Amino acid sequence: MNWIWVVLILFWTGGFAWLADTARTALRNRHQRRMELMEAQKAERLAVEAAHKPPQPICGCTHHLAKHDKSGRCHERVEVPTAWDENKKPLRFEPGQCNCQQYVGPQPLSQVYADELTDLA
Ligand SMILES: [Zn+2]
Ligand SMILES: [Zn+2]
Repeated sequence: MNWIWVVLILFWTGGFAWLADTARTALRNRHQRRMELMEAQKAERLAVEAAHKPPQPICGCTHHLAKHDKSGRCHERVEVPTAWDENKKPLRFEPGQCNCQQYVGPQPLSQVYADELTDLA
């Protein structure tokens, strides 16, 4: 009956470790696949949401179109650098006005109202 012990010991040491390792690897791979799938679904959802959103009327000066008057002049307050260090990095700022003149971003699409289709018949 000696061989049973040999098999048992072999199983408990090498075999069990191998089994546990295989199971761990399989679980990790599955987890990774799940994460990748979730990431892909999230990206897809974000793309769909972005496709449904109207384009934001953002000007080339990064300010919203609403900050511009009829002649295209931007009224947003900005920080104007007044001092620079030797690496041309601004050190001090003064409040000033954005000197943007023109809107160059995407034109916002006008909303068209349509009655919901109702089946009268
Ligand atoms: Zn602007
Ligand atoms: Zn601006």
